[in-house]
Amino acid sequence: MSVFEHPEFDQHEQVVFCHDHHSGLNAIIAIHNTNLGPALGGCRMWPYADSQEALTDVLRLSKGMTYKSAIARVPLGGGKAVIIGNAREHKNAEMMKAMGRYIESLSGRYYTAEDSGISVADLQLMASQSQYITGTKARYHVHSQVADGNPAPSTAYGVFVGLKASVEYALKTDLKGIRVAIQGLGQVGYRLAKHLHEAGAELVVTDIFPESLQRAEQEFGATVVAADDIFKQQVDVFVPCAMGAVLNEKTVSQLSAKVVAGAANNQLATENVGALLVEKDILYAPDYVINAGGIIDIHHQRLPESSDAALRTHVEQIGTNLLEIFARATTENKATNQVANAIAEELFANKA
Ligand code: NAD
Repeated sequence: MSVFEHPEFDQHEQVVFCHDHHSGLNAIIAIHNTNLGPALGGCRMWPYADSQEALTDVLRLSKGMTYKSAIARVPLGGGKAVIIGNAREHKNAEMMKAMGRYIESLSGRYYTAEDSGISVADLQLMASQSQYITGTKARYHVHSQVADGNPAPSTAYGVFVGLKASVEYALKTDLKGIRVAIQGLGQVGYRLAKHLHEAGAELVVTDIFPESLQRAEQEFGATVVAADDIFKQQVDVFVPCAMGAVLNEKTVSQLSAKVVAGAANNQLATENVGALLVEKDILYAPDYVINAGGIIDIHHQRLPESSDAALRTHVEQIGTNLLEIFARATTENKATNQVANAIAEELFANKA
């Protein structure tokens, strides 16, 4: 398998292949860049078709974390881990502990956290073997609700703040009466829907779980639509909160929204879709800028001392970060995703 020649390889500092025969662990840890601090990014367990697919994912995701942390002004680098396997069928306690030992062996160059297929309980098993596991408990909260190490409340609040800033920039109005289409009512989407409802927005929602839809209908008076119909709703804002690569030529052509602002990672099917959105006069809040509340949360939980207020203020900076990108995109006549990449690269180019 080629690594240095891989199309997604982009000056990654270290790629570690991990195998534990006893537990069946097959995993890859990628550290993209540590100029700003130790690499941090979640550990994902996914039934990849083969190790090449897992390598592609971990190279891409670890690089994304470098950009996300840099622009969120968090002193962390970019890294990610992937475990190959179906989390429901193949996961076992010994596997999580073996993963913890591999993370420990990197001596703090890489810290892990939660991602698809990996729960707080799994992280606790890893933490029994390694001091470099985050997201197992929370000392500070964006709001006063009790939370475990799950950073979704901070992610949702960050997206809310960013969406509000985007609407003010593009539509010169607050959220009262604004129509918003939310794709995905999971950990982040549901909490975001609650913030938006409380701010007076009208919600159109979709999900693949009927019970999530019923809850949004009852609690927020949301209008429920079929999954495939979410793009063509007559709304002001489109909010992707499910999976990646949802914005492509076809879906963008269906949008009537003037703003796209949501939590999903890697929303653009290709970087060129950013230019398509500009052509349609749709303001795009770059995904890794607006969804950085989670990494900001994890950063504050790791600090020797912080506070709820300091965490909240840092998450609210997402609005300012977006306004900087929007202004520069207008001045330089570029797409917002291009400008975000350029700013992040300026920030992590040199060692802190
Ligand atoms: P989640 O799994 O809790 O929620 C995703 C929701 O999307 C689920 O309710 C699922 O049923 C729904 N869904 C799946 N396919 C769908 C489809 N075709 N149409 C409509 N709905 C569909 O995940 P989450 O933690 O809420 O994260 C949502 C997105 O935000 C993901 O892309 C994630 O990578 C990203 N993100 C999450 C965080 C975080 O803190 N959780 C941080 C940064 C980015």
